[in-house]
Amino acid sequence: MADCLFCKIIAGDIPSTGVHETDTTYAFRDINPQSRVHVLVVPKNHHEDANELANHPNLLAALLKAGVEVADIEGIKDSGYRFVFNTGDDACRTVFHAHLHVLGGEQLTDFGR
Ligand code: 5GP
Ligand code: ZN
Repeated sequence: MADCLFCKIIAGDIPSTGVHETDTTYAFRDINPQSRVHVLVVPKNHHEDANELANHPNLLAALLKAGVEVADIEGIKDSGYRFVFNTGDDACRTVFHAHLHVLGGEQLTDFGR
């Protein structure tokens, strides 16, 4: 999608620090990390959010698998990590291209309100 930040990152028009890639997914470091490890895993094709990804279960599974492989690459597979899909206004989602946050590398706090 022409006006999408993450589509531009996937196309290489905006630089990113890549961590992992498959034929359908790309993972790169978050520009404003919320923990020592903070990587975003995105589908290469534009899908707005998790609600849309639910219509593409193979892609959803590919994103989760890529997230586990990112955790392994980052050395946090055993120490623990958190997967987050922010979806909609109440979750404060800011980028309208679906993305899986992979967070870890230190003790995370509780989350919620
Ligand atoms: P959301 O709040 O939509 O779930 O998460 C969007 C994430 O994208 C945020 O954690 C934010 O720091 C990250 N982000 C926004 N712009 C850029 C960018 O240009 N490059 C990278 N690598 N991450 C970005
Ligand atoms: Zn996009």
